[in-house]
Amino acid sequence: MTLKLHNTLTGKLDEFVPQTEGKALVYTCGPTVYDYPHIGNWVAYIYWDILVRTLIANNYEVDRAMNITDVGHLVSDSDEGQDKLEKGARRENKTAWDIAEFYTNDFLYGIKRLNIIMPQHIAKATDYIVEQLDLIRKLKQKGYTYQISDGLYYDTSKFPTYADFAHLDLDELQAGARVEYNTEKRNHSDFALWKFTPNDEKRDMQWDTPLDLLDDNTTVKKGFPGWHLECSAMAMSILGQTIDIHTGGIDHIPVHHTNEIAQSEAISGVRFSNYWLHNNHLKVNGTKISKSLGNGYNLENLEEKGFSAQDFRMFVLQGNYKNEGNFTFDNLTAAKNRLNNWKNIAAIRHQIHNTIESNKEKMDDPKTVLLYATPQAIIEAVNNDLNTPEVLRIIDEAFAKVTSARLEYIHRPSLVKLLETIDSLLGLELIDSSPDISDETKNIIIERRRARDEKDWAKSDKLRDELLKKNISIRDADKETIWEYK
Ligand SMILES: [Zn+2]
Repeated sequence: MTLKLHNTLTGKLDEFVPQTEGKALVYTCGPTVYDYPHIGNWVAYIYWDILVRTLIANNYEVDRAMNITDVGHLVSDSDEGQDKLEKGARRENKTAWDIAEFYTNDFLYGIKRLNIIMPQHIAKATDYIVEQLDLIRKLKQKGYTYQISDGLYYDTSKFPTYADFAHLDLDELQAGARVEYNTEKRNHSDFALWKFTPNDEKRDMQWDTPLDLLDDNTTVKKGFPGWHLECSAMAMSILGQTIDIHTGGIDHIPVHHTNEIAQSEAISGVRFSNYWLHNNHLKVNGTKISKSLGNGYNLENLEEKGFSAQDFRMFVLQGNYKNEGNFTFDNLTAAKNRLNNWKNIAAIRHQIHNTIESNKEKMDDPKTVLLYATPQAIIEAVNNDLNTPEVLRIIDEAFAKVTSARLEYIHRPSLVKLLETIDSLLGLELIDSSPDISDETKNIIIERRRARDEKDWAKSDKLRDELLKKNISIRDADKETIWEYK
């Protein structure tokens, strides 16, 4: 089996070959913890969870790090405006440390609810200040840095391949620079490695700038790290100087990831990441998600409207990570219905009927639904650049055969095997969310079937209502009765 991934670095669909056989080093750009994550933020973590699950299905041991940005991410990506954490702190009348802790916990709770596999390393930027300063020191020694009034900057003109990753036209960027562009910078694309705390600003999070990093090494200056630096520092100190796969949103390509590469490769002299994967954006009703429009729903908002985190996961899997998604409540309802349908298929393993597993004659009957080929087919589909829409199509096709077959012809061990594969590959928890019904409920179903066969309609209806109260509905087929979750 080969796993193919669309690699932003080469612009092609590349076969995945890790540095060490059987092992995959993965780095994911994590959240900035200053507010509740909205559905557009969650899309990325769901798709990268599918990447991790796909690597596991291909027998790779995954070692994955994700950062928590709890300092230094400014409102504008071009090193301007307030720090998002400090801004959040002023908004809620708390300290930036409190804000970071609260929203980090909220994010981790969301990860759990969405059944996303927790990365082995969750690293906070504030826990890696020493490592970040160490990278600045190394860059300074190699002549990549300079100091201006508001901080220490990276001179992008010293890194000849700076424009390559994002195919940037630096001359055009320079010419189109906005009026408020920091004129002390040598080049428009230069970025802050370390910002000094402005004299008129009160910051909760700040550290002493080591004197050896300053031009005037006598004056103590407080400061804080630039956003791009943390990912280089954490990826390299946790996973090593070259990682296998780096993931993030497409908006990270021209600035954040370009800068991560410039920092890391200037220091190590080797390639920072062999594969770069980027997810596209999610729109809501065809519009960009924005605070002012109030369309940045979070998981709680969906729950209030009766949708579970898993309904949303199913919605995300219906799209391809490389395409722009469009969220509407109609689309989410369709995903919820599909998931509910799948749970009812999963419940077929509990239905009351004769089994064919021990019946040699029926096993050879063309009417028998054997599902042993489907797990392999869905792994092959996801191996083709995480093609989740195709995976869902294959599952629907297999499940349609199950629905149209008589219960006694459904081969249950192969159905269970398929359900297990779906759960480990897509994380939909079909098995856990489709429990068996009690013996008492089963007896009511049997009794009702008997009443129906005896044409005792009054009794049959009464028992059906009793089942509905237990959230179980009944479907009568030819000679059988199938129960479903309502
Ligand atoms: Zn990053």
